[in-house]
Amino acid sequence: MMDKCPYKEYCDYYRANFSNMPEKYAQILEIYYCYGNQCECARYLIAHALGVEELPADLAPYCMDSAKKILDKKVFI
Ligand code: SF4
Repeated sequence: MMDKCPYKEYCDYYRANFSNMPEKYAQILEIYYCYGNQCECARYLIAHALGVEELPADLAPYCMDSAKKILDKKVFI
């Protein structure tokens, strides 16, 4: 198992959206992404590549396609 995500304390999605989800669903997402598989997290990808200040508030951890579109726009302009 990997360590805790290094962006957890800066992650708005974790703060704003996990608290609004049904508790079990939030726990599953948090355990899966934030405490084990952050390399599969769309938010981690953006934070790692562009910085936490570039994280859209509404980007969900499982929206890798959206993260790749953001990266394409930022990297190739
Ligand atoms: S949602 Fe992604 S970026 Fe945010 S704390 Fe969890 S693993 Fe890290």
